Amino acid sequence: MSFETRRLAELADHDGFIKRHNGPSPADVDTMLKALNMQRMEDLIEQTVPSDIRLGRELALDDPRSEAEALDYLSQLARQNRVTKSYIGQGYYGTHMPAVIQRNVLENPGWYTAYTPYQPEISQGRLEGLLNFQQVIMDLTGMELANASLLDEATAAAEAMALCKRSNKKSKSIAFFVADDLFPQTLDVIKTRAAFFGFELISGPAETLAEHDVFGALVQYPSASGNVTDISPLLSAAKERGIMTCVATDLLSLVLLKEPGAMGADIVVGNSQRFGVPMGFGGPHAAFFATSDKLKRSIPGRIIGVSKDSRGNTALRMAMQTREQHIRREKATSNICTAQALLANIAGFYATYHGAEGLRKIAGRVHRLTSLLAKGIIQAGVTLAHDSWFDTLRLTQVDAGKIHGRAMTHDINLHYFANGDVGISLDETTTAHDVATLFDVLLGDEHGLSVTTLDEHVINEEISGIPENYRRESRFLEHPTFKRYRSETEMLRYLKRLENKDLSLAHAMIPLGSCTMKLNATSEMIPISWPAFAHLHPFAPRDQVAGYHQMIDELAAFLVEVTGYDHISMQPNSGAQGEYAGLLAIRRYQAAQGEAHRDVCLIPSSAHGTNPASAAMLSMDVVVVECDVNGNIDLDDLTRKAQQYSDRLSAVMITYPSTHGVFESHVRKVCDVVHAHGGQVYVDGANMNAQVGLTRPGDFGGDVSHLNLHKTFCIPHGGGGPGMGPIGVKAHLAPFVSNHAVTPIKGVNPENGAVSAAAFGSASILPISWAYIKMMGAQGLREATELAILNANYIAKRLESAYPILYRGQKGNVAHECIIDIRPLKSASGISEEDIAKRLMDYGFHAPTMSFPVPGTLMIEPTESESLYEIDRFCDAMIAIREEITRVEKGEWPLDNNPLVNAPHTQADLMDSEWQRPYDRKLGAFPTDAVAASKYWPTVNRVDNVFGDRQLICSCPSIDEYRR
Ligand SMILES: *Cc1c(COP(=O)(O)O)cnc(C)c1O
Repeated sequence: MSFETRRLAELADHDGFIKRHNGPSPADVDTMLKALNMQRMEDLIEQTVPSDIRLGRELALDDPRSEAEALDYLSQLARQNRVTKSYIGQGYYGTHMPAVIQRNVLENPGWYTAYTPYQPEISQGRLEGLLNFQQVIMDLTGMELANASLLDEATAAAEAMALCKRSNKKSKSIAFFVADDLFPQTLDVIKTRAAFFGFELISGPAETLAEHDVFGALVQYPSASGNVTDISPLLSAAKERGIMTCVATDLLSLVLLKEPGAMGADIVVGNSQRFGVPMGFGGPHAAFFATSDKLKRSIPGRIIGVSKDSRGNTALRMAMQTREQHIRREKATSNICTAQALLANIAGFYATYHGAEGLRKIAGRVHRLTSLLAKGIIQAGVTLAHDSWFDTLRLTQVDAGKIHGRAMTHDINLHYFANGDVGISLDETTTAHDVATLFDVLLGDEHGLSVTTLDEHVINEEISGIPENYRRESRFLEHPTFKRYRSETEMLRYLKRLENKDLSLAHAMIPLGSCTMKLNATSEMIPISWPAFAHLHPFAPRDQVAGYHQMIDELAAFLVEVTGYDHISMQPNSGAQGEYAGLLAIRRYQAAQGEAHRDVCLIPSSAHGTNPASAAMLSMDVVVVECDVNGNIDLDDLTRKAQQYSDRLSAVMITYPSTHGVFESHVRKVCDVVHAHGGQVYVDGANMNAQVGLTRPGDFGGDVSHLNLHKTFCIPHGGGGPGMGPIGVKAHLAPFVSNHAVTPIKGVNPENGAVSAAAFGSASILPISWAYIKMMGAQGLREATELAILNANYIAKRLESAYPILYRGQKGNVAHECIIDIRPLKSASGISEEDIAKRLMDYGFHAPTMSFPVPGTLMIEPTESESLYEIDRFCDAMIAIREEITRVEKGEWPLDNNPLVNAPHTQADLMDSEWQRPYDRKLGAFPTDAVAASKYWPTVNRVDNVFGDRQLICSCPSIDEYRR
């Protein structure tokens, strides 16, 4: 740095944010290095990261910006977006997020920094929110079961197709029918998915559904162009022919329309976006997936179920959790891991706040305004394509050019069909005044129509776009939860009550290995609420979203530099979707080389479950590569298998540093071996937090990686989503990344199908990662990585005398996480890793990652954001727990009655009139003074996993159940 730039940097407080993001102070760093017997950070890094892969220079990024400067810059980008009135529809609608939900959930770290509720005892709040969401979906769709969200409507539809194939044992067909009046982005994603499953797609008018020999069929109701028809005869005819049926639908329309469940649908999917979640230029919002009861064991994604705790009280948990966690590896049928928990919670709360009456009012108003618009248009002599509608009209034989011109002068976006028709979708935000303007736009100024007169017609003549025999007759949202929280005061307290049940980063460190629970800075979060990012339709014209494109291009450029790849595809909206998109690019590339037969994917035994699951989704054969005793990929086994499958080898999927938490020194060799046999190298980027600024996967042999922006790049986990999983690829793979049917991405082959519903996935959360990189700059990012490594090694050092550290690198160091082995302890004492995880709750901590990647272990990842104070607090807790285990080992406490197996301790435990435990109440609930001073209380006792799986209940229990 020149004197001049250094002085300017000082004056602008350019490293101010770095000090906020990174937990340890310079003095803490000295203390930790000393504990490791080291002088300088450079010594630690030299001994940890293999020298042959070190970057050897600082990343070429801009100087770090202060929080104020970064926000200022982002607001300039936001100003290049233009928020207009959107009537585009096509799956994305205007909506009013209730302010009480915006402030207390979306913008509240108590909700957004929580992790996926794998530890139910400290997650009852968001589990209840998600259960509400499931209930809303079940009620509105009329189905018996719903999951707790998928990534978007298009991928949900693709999952539905796959579920039909594996559940339909009657049909031998490999063909799937898709009705032609389907959202184009849904069709796009289904096409991509079908191609590698080897399914044939048959498209035609919905009425012809039962004429084909297919295993399953998808219809949209109401259709993409707004038609509302009675699909029950189609569904019954299909059922008679042994065809499984999927219905893609719109939640708000179901308030008024007969529900698909009552018409015999097997699977119902859709988007819950218009339940209070802004369009966000495509996401994130929660898709839903509902089925009949008989499909409950094969439904993709997470299901929240009702179980009970050790006191017999009702407690919620993720049902069939082991299945989800490991995604059944090579037998996997879906790779869904991160979904859209935060947005599902928001949609559920929207329904809770409005209740059935509120939703009827909203849907009724949307429909009445649409009917009024239809009446006026018809009166003016314009033809509508359909005689029925809910919220969408399709105008035919109109002068689309003229309409477009007038629409532009009014700042209005409409949907323009390829054949010249014009589509208009109304929503919750549409007013009578808006409809008057729409008449001007559609008919010109001389129409002479009056909204009030038309409205009188609509009321008096009972004009409706929904024919009588398919109006909704059944009731919905009858559960007391949907009646109790109608006033803002009640809602506020409900949200706060649920929030208080959960442990989030607002309470304590969440040392989950492989999940990188670092700071989600407030400054990074602020822009996502700005209307200029939140309120844009993903299909808005290019010139209205220039700010988005620039922000995305800049973020992509940052990530190119950080990874050493040549191109970033910003479409996948989770890590696992990134894996799928990356493997897809590999398979497309190989097909273009005349090597489509390459279908073997080598995956180390230690891999994350999504790796084999993603490979399975591309019909690849997964061949498992063994690891050696040190946890490294067994190079001999890899070489043997690469040779054995040489002519079929498509790719290897490795995680670096390994899921065992070490920098393997032979990673270049691994890549070379696979390349030598014609394979491509997929580097799972989940552990990028140990690499940024020190090494780059694109330099040491990777051809493609996904980056979990919700891990390394500060997007919060939201209690199980959202996330973003963009992929970095080398130049040869760049032509093969995903494109998008509606909004083509420049520079990408238009024939490449999409993997997500929107071109840039969950675009509205990208400013978070942009701001992080902008505020950290090259130096800050490198320091963060170094500190993440230092923190992990310090923990390993402090814990090593209490717990064996399972794996270390060549020079004895771990990377950014460390695995402690509980198996020897368990055989000596009977205390399990689960007991330790639950006991940590009494100490106010979230457990580390349990039994991944090695059963019977805990994997700890502190990240750079945790201070020495917090890390010491955690280590103290772990060491105190170790001492408790010793007392069990020595027989001081019986194995079936001690603070570990009884953990977590609740207020209910302390209230017991008789305390029949060999330790006192204080040790149970306030094991340290620090805990006593500021206690986080788990609200239920240990949750019974088996009970909940044996009898799967996924709907809201009666209020009495909660009270017990
Ligand atoms: C988190 C993670 C994934 C999956 O990411 P999602 O966003 O949850 O789909 C894949 N691989 C590894 C090693 C991970 O830690």
